[in-house]
Amino acid sequence: MTAPDSRSETALAPTDARAVLVVVDVQNDFLPGGSLAVQDGHAVVPVINRLAGQFTHVVITQDWHTPGHISFASSHAGKQPFETTTLAYGTQVLWPDHCIQGSEGAALAADLAIPHAQLIIRKGFHPGVDSYSAFMEADRTTSTGLAAYLKARGLSRVFVTGLATDFCVAWTALDARQAGFETWVIEDACRAIDADGSLTKAWSDMTAAGVGRIRAADLG
Ligand SMILES: [Zn+2]
Repeated sequence: MTAPDSRSETALAPTDARAVLVVVDVQNDFLPGGSLAVQDGHAVVPVINRLAGQFTHVVITQDWHTPGHISFASSHAGKQPFETTTLAYGTQVLWPDHCIQGSEGAALAADLAIPHAQLIIRKGFHPGVDSYSAFMEADRTTSTGLAAYLKARGLSRVFVTGLATDFCVAWTALDARQAGFETWVIEDACRAIDADGSLTKAWSDMTAAGVGRIRAADLG
């Protein structure tokens, strides 16, 4: 596979039959006023709505946790949000309770306007495993099924947007590359948490993996 080339107009055409827009976790709890709000998170909504109108194929992800999920600080005695703990699958950042199945916080942003989205894929629903990525859960062995779905439908060019750049967007983009997809992150359609240099590291990892870094205006 050739690396994504931001200078190639054909590679960046949203109307390409192989192109799919992936909208990551644009949910109330990640928006201002939510329990795990990403600063300026709401700014992505109009950008994503405009982008989605350009794409034939759109997939939405939804963080979807059980009450008492292992990624919640409240599930670990003596731990505060944004501290870490060690789980069987590695280091886990502990978060405020968020995106509990069926809650208002887990609902997609009310003004996200993508009626033609073809799939909403939920992740993080196993009580003992987190899943930042839309492709692979945090144990790095449990698949969400998204790669097989995209491949079965001939969708090989993945454009990632949403929240948060340095966690669920980055992990999704890195796993898309790992699974063999051409992958771009649309920078101005994302916002970051940026804790302890996590945003710089995320871009460094994504660039090294061949993820293209573009802006919405780059799409023809
Ligand atoms: Zn979560």
